Amino acid sequence: MANNSAAQMVFGITAEHNPSLERHVFPNPVDASGYMVMLWYKNGSLTREVSSVLKDSSSDGIWTLAYARLPDVKPPQKANFAAGDIIEQTTFRQPVEVPQDKLLGGLLPAGLDEKSCLSRYQSVLYRKKNIHQPSSHLISRLRNYESQHKRCGPYTESYNRTLKYLNSNQYNSSTGCNYVVWLSFSGLGNRILSLASAFLYALLTNRVLLVDRGLDIPDLFCEPFPDVSWLLPSDFPLTDKFSSFNQKSPESYGNMLKNNVFANSVSSSLPAYVYLHLVHDYDEHDKLFFCDQDQTVLQQVPWLILKTDNYFIPSLFLIPSFEQELHNLFPEKGTVLHHLCRYLLNPTNSVWGLITRYYNAYLATADEKIGIQIRVFEAGPGPYQYVSDQILACVIKENLLPQINKNLPIINPPGKPKIKAVLITSLSSGYFEALRNMYWEHPTITGEIIELCQPSHEVYQQTEKQMHNRKAWAEMYQLSLMDKLVTSSWSTFGYVAQSLGGLRPWILYKVENQTAPDPPCQRAMSMEPCFHAPPFYDCKRKIGTDTGKIVPNVQHCEDMSWGLKLFDG
Ligand code: GDP
Repeated sequence: MANNSAAQMVFGITAEHNPSLERHVFPNPVDASGYMVMLWYKNGSLTREVSSVLKDSSSDGIWTLAYARLPDVKPPQKANFAAGDIIEQTTFRQPVEVPQDKLLGGLLPAGLDEKSCLSRYQSVLYRKKNIHQPSSHLISRLRNYESQHKRCGPYTESYNRTLKYLNSNQYNSSTGCNYVVWLSFSGLGNRILSLASAFLYALLTNRVLLVDRGLDIPDLFCEPFPDVSWLLPSDFPLTDKFSSFNQKSPESYGNMLKNNVFANSVSSSLPAYVYLHLVHDYDEHDKLFFCDQDQTVLQQVPWLILKTDNYFIPSLFLIPSFEQELHNLFPEKGTVLHHLCRYLLNPTNSVWGLITRYYNAYLATADEKIGIQIRVFEAGPGPYQYVSDQILACVIKENLLPQINKNLPIINPPGKPKIKAVLITSLSSGYFEALRNMYWEHPTITGEIIELCQPSHEVYQQTEKQMHNRKAWAEMYQLSLMDKLVTSSWSTFGYVAQSLGGLRPWILYKVENQTAPDPPCQRAMSMEPCFHAPPFYDCKRKIGTDTGKIVPNVQHCEDMSWGLKLFDG
């Protein structure tokens, strides 16, 4: 009999579950002589791989191995089975513990209250095994950050003392706690990217991140740090100014530079706070934020108030003083947002309910799951025929979905037909309806069954509404749970899904002149998002330069020729 810890490692099933199971056996796709055993909860809610390579299908030895990992499950009488067979239904006699990798390879801290944020620990049950492990350096910096946050977070003694400088708008010798305040601004995808960027900037500059709650931040995201909140207290003295901060604000770094505020960099003359305007309309002076010498100045300012709608991390990789640390934190450059999102941005229980109920109802039992994220930057909500044509051309050309056979009424493949579930997200329902009708009215040439679903069609962006944003976050997350993903050019909604899921998507090219582009899509080289408004400036030589050509890991994006993106290799 195997010990429980081996079983826990393999299953990933929480103590709350005590489900009936179905067990299926499949030929192993990576080892022709082996088999895979899968477990299904009988209620159809969840699929888990239990044991991967099981050799010697003809002997009882296979079951010895399988059941060595299933201490609470009765072995079957014999080992004769065929691929795809349901070989037994059974029940766990005892609840099984939470999986050992619930902390995502050490990315998550231990000791957080699990019930208050179920997604943080249950997400492993819905995902394939993660092949991207966080570096030990990232893990150790996160633990240090958590201690710092506990020491400096809202209403701590250090926070209260640093706040006093703010009230007098005068720099004073440091309390050891400096802050970056992130302002909630723009659509949800943009906000997620900018929040992750702000957090990484805080890590790199030893600052504490405090988050403006906006209309809905606490409703969407769990508290990420143990013991002390990341939410900026509502009595923060500058709160009333947040909505008026813009490119013209005298407190912005760019305008302070223009007004020579930092000309005499004696610390007593420095302001207690600086507004960092890194929004897409920022000017050349604001962009000096990305220069080393400006970082040296900013380092001395206790409060930085950051407003951005950008994923600005690629340009942080071009700041020489951050370079080594970033390399240590992220040896795999293509996984920056992947790790940051999984650490920092976990859906609250209300959003997790939306995600899991939908997943269990429509997606759990499919053999393969494909996400198609459709974001159309045209004047009206659509649907547009040329977009439908483009989507179809992409999924057929890239072999993501099969062609239909218009000549035969029915096709019977040998054995059980494979079911592919397609999750569509879009503001419009038209693309979903077109694909669903096509696969309903005609059989596929492969005999596969194509099942289509779309959780919502909200028609237009309604960022001010709570349920609208919950659904948007739920859908980004659901897309991240798919096996393969198609995304739309320029969309931060899609970027979040791909990075969270660790998926390199097929990107639909941007439509020009209302014509379906040919080719319709291309496979992304990395799962990282694109920084849409990077600076093109050589800080040392003080001249313009192509920042996509300086280091191999930072290059132009597939979907936006002037954007910057992180790549491996
Ligand atoms: P981007 O504009 O595509 O970069 O993504 P954002 O998330 O920043 O802003 C678009 C917003 O429109 C989303 O946050 C949603 O509020 C809404 N939206 C766009 N596409 C969808 C969709 O497929 N599903 C839902 N529920 N909302 C969407």
